[in-house]
Amino acid sequence: KESLDEGLQKTKEGFFAKITKAIAGKASIDEEVLDNLEEALVGADVGIETTLAIIKRIEARVAKDKYISTGELNALLQEEIEAVLVDADNTSYKNFEIPEGQKPYVILVVGVNGVGKTTTIGKLAHNYKKAGHNVILGAADTFRAAAVDQLTIWSERVGVSIVKQAMGSDPSAVAFDTVTSAVAKGSDIVIIDTAGRLHNKAYLMDELTKIKRVIKKVLPTAPNEVMLVLDGSTGQNAIEQARHFTAATDVTSLTITKLDGTAKGGVVLAIANQFKIPVKFIGVGEKIDDLLVFDKHEFVDSLFK
Ligand code: GDP
Repeated sequence: KESLDEGLQKTKEGFFAKITKAIAGKASIDEEVLDNLEEALVGADVGIETTLAIIKRIEARVAKDKYISTGELNALLQEEIEAVLVDADNTSYKNFEIPEGQKPYVILVVGVNGVGKTTTIGKLAHNYKKAGHNVILGAADTFRAAAVDQLTIWSERVGVSIVKQAMGSDPSAVAFDTVTSAVAKGSDIVIIDTAGRLHNKAYLMDELTKIKRVIKKVLPTAPNEVMLVLDGSTGQNAIEQARHFTAATDVTSLTITKLDGTAKGGVVLAIANQFKIPVKFIGVGEKIDDLLVFDKHEFVDSLFK
């Protein structure tokens, strides 16, 4: 909780200042307050679509309850923002439990280079290991030597095994090896890194499709999860990436990183609302413990504190 408040500090400052300004000197919620609020939300990187959805809900509430003072607007806004966020059953994630009968649980991690994919994998491995699980990593981003090296460093730091091959080898072969090894060893969880090359959409799609097809040969239920990692500090760029990746493959969960040190945290609301994919984790720092399970209530609550 403390690290959430701390991690969202800059977003909170920007968000709150804008909201406060939007309602300053007003006794009730009128057209002008709503216009200002709309501007404030868009300015806080909540995105047009999501902002309009929130404003529409507030208008409906105001119409129904007739008189709502601006003093009550904060609470109302908080409720309506929560209402547009997708519900994810994050109870099992809180304890890093693996769903019943789904071992080894395979997470395929996708996202553009630089968004914090490797760091997120390291943090996830740490948390799952801490929860008592046997973790294995797959270095299927075979295009960048740095990617394999970084993942290797994380595996050593966390103390989990890693499967890798020579640079330039087929990513799906690495994924195949990783899942095969996990089955042979009786591992609990497999986390596979992939290359996030967006410049060629058809290529990205083919590559991810192939990785999925190949690991299904070993484990028909895999991957259990396709996690897209997005850099929250890039604001609307992150939304653009989400659009590309969801078009290329079936993304089932999101992790939004680098929410510390940015005022663009409102983008989490935009992404969750627009793509209807649960945000499972958020990154609030570079260190191993700086990964938090996303809880929409806590998140929104923190924004308004
Ligand atoms: P990748 O290319 O997507 O694998 O990205 P990396 O995991 O190598 O991360 C890129 C940079 O972002 C590194 O310097 C990380 O330390 C940093 N990073 C990753 N996650 C976070 C985060 O949640 N907060 C901050 N401040 N930095 C992060």
